[in-house]
Amino acid sequence: MNMNRRDFLQLLGIASAGGFLLHDNETHAFNSAAQMYQLPRYGNVSLLHITDCHAQLNPVYYREPNVNLGIGVMNGQPPHLVGEKLLKHYGIKPGTSDAYAFTSLDFTEAAKTYGKVGGFAHLCTLVKQIRSSRPGSLLLDGGDTWQGSGTALWSQGQDMIEACIELGVDVMTLHWECTYGAERVKAVENGTLKGKIEVVAQNVKTTDFGDPIFKPYVIREINTIPVAIIGQAFPYSSIAHPRYFVPDWSFGIQEENLQTMIDEVRKKGAQVVVLLSHNGMDVDLKLASRVHGMDAILGGHTHDGVPEPIAVKNSGGTTLVTNAGSNGKFLGVMDFEVKAGKVSGFRYKLLPVFANLLAPDQGMKSLINKLRAPYENRLNEKLATTDTLLYRRGNFNGSFDQLILDALMREKDAPIAFSPGFRWGTSLLPDSTITMEDLLNQTAITYPTTTLTNMSGMQIKTVLEDVCDNLFNPDPYYQQGGDMVRVGGLDYTCDPSAAMGKRIQDMRLGGKLIEADKVYKVAGWAPVSEAARDNGGEPIWDLVARQLRSEKIVKPTLPNIPILKGVTGNTGIL
Ligand SMILES: [Zn+2]
Repeated sequence: MNMNRRDFLQLLGIASAGGFLLHDNETHAFNSAAQMYQLPRYGNVSLLHITDCHAQLNPVYYREPNVNLGIGVMNGQPPHLVGEKLLKHYGIKPGTSDAYAFTSLDFTEAAKTYGKVGGFAHLCTLVKQIRSSRPGSLLLDGGDTWQGSGTALWSQGQDMIEACIELGVDVMTLHWECTYGAERVKAVENGTLKGKIEVVAQNVKTTDFGDPIFKPYVIREINTIPVAIIGQAFPYSSIAHPRYFVPDWSFGIQEENLQTMIDEVRKKGAQVVVLLSHNGMDVDLKLASRVHGMDAILGGHTHDGVPEPIAVKNSGGTTLVTNAGSNGKFLGVMDFEVKAGKVSGFRYKLLPVFANLLAPDQGMKSLINKLRAPYENRLNEKLATTDTLLYRRGNFNGSFDQLILDALMREKDAPIAFSPGFRWGTSLLPDSTITMEDLLNQTAITYPTTTLTNMSGMQIKTVLEDVCDNLFNPDPYYQQGGDMVRVGGLDYTCDPSAAMGKRIQDMRLGGKLIEADKVYKVAGWAPVSEAARDNGGEPIWDLVARQLRSEKIVKPTLPNIPILKGVTGNTGIL
């Protein structure tokens, strides 16, 4: 690290607070922190991996889920481990910086001790440091990079595109990027990114003749060893978002085509084959068992910070499956030893990016300042303060989503509200100011309009069952990777392991059972239909901002969550 010990200790505010590993000895704190990022080189092929940063250029707080249920055989397995169950599985001590990074335990207190995570300037310092000991290494971006902030939305991802070039990303794949529309994605690929970042996706084709939209893979030499990076975009991009963004593209998992691509790159001499995937971890685990010839899947989408790879057996040997979290919080480092034409060993580390422990890279910092400058006033508008921790992540609801639901119900005068189960969205500590930027970190999408719909009790049940099946279908290939739709006003019971159509039970409004034929007013946002786009409507951030300005102080309210059935002993719940 290019700074002296004194500078470092100043950055390391936590050393004086006695936080790091709960020692009050400065030298000890310094050594522990420095050691964490001094990752000795191993082998001859190194791949650095970031994913799902959701356009967070500056350091943030990000609380991991307290509920991440795995159903059936997925129970007890990563990534469906939360809190102490995760700590126990990986041998992480409670109260440490790793416990803060990987779990939601004592979040507010731990966040005060260990500080914010991520930020491209801090990440950049870490990337440079790791790459300096790993000549020829590649930096891979798993997607969900251009979406998730006000600046990304207003610049159509341009801020992130420039930041990723500055960071030194070599290869990327896609998901939310597609919500800027097919033309924008292709124009960026063939324009700003040309010769700098390759976009790969073997599973995106034209709907008419099945022609590939992107390169399926790239083969790069690392220390004379040919390494293939195959891309896998989010398979449900055209279902989970409005179809009109990518009307002529088809997606899907495309298992057979993937096998063909693996065989092809092996024939061309690739000695290491890696899938840069936006499938989500459960899908990747199943895929790894059915396709052979891949050394690793570097995965994203489900935002799981998984400390160690899972080795999956298949007919060709073993494939390692990883997932590298979200919001710029982690950098995955996969080192391979390649001997006699094949991988003979590996080491993997998922490094948390603690902003207090990494000096910001000055070049990246200036770029971020420049990119944000035109928007600063708008971003910094103070809307309210919060007395309570605001967060999103968790299978059923988060306190920030509850705030959105409450605003929707009040503003639309509706007894019920729905809010999408997005997994992005940062966290705010108690006694923080809520700025417009914070609100946009929860809502910045290209189809943000609010809606008011008359729905029968039957229709409400159908919607809940449908989303619940996307989350809990026992076959991962039918899981789309979002969390459950957040529900305001309506109480219900959920049995995640029941069959499709039977998971949602006992729906009640004000204590009274919902009637199948009765019509209810339901407020919502983020509609996917073309008709909804054409109808227009107020963007969600304007509606919530208006509420926050009048409310001034957000008081603690309990997120509305269903009564859960059959989850006793599940490792995915605290
Ligand atoms: Zn994501």
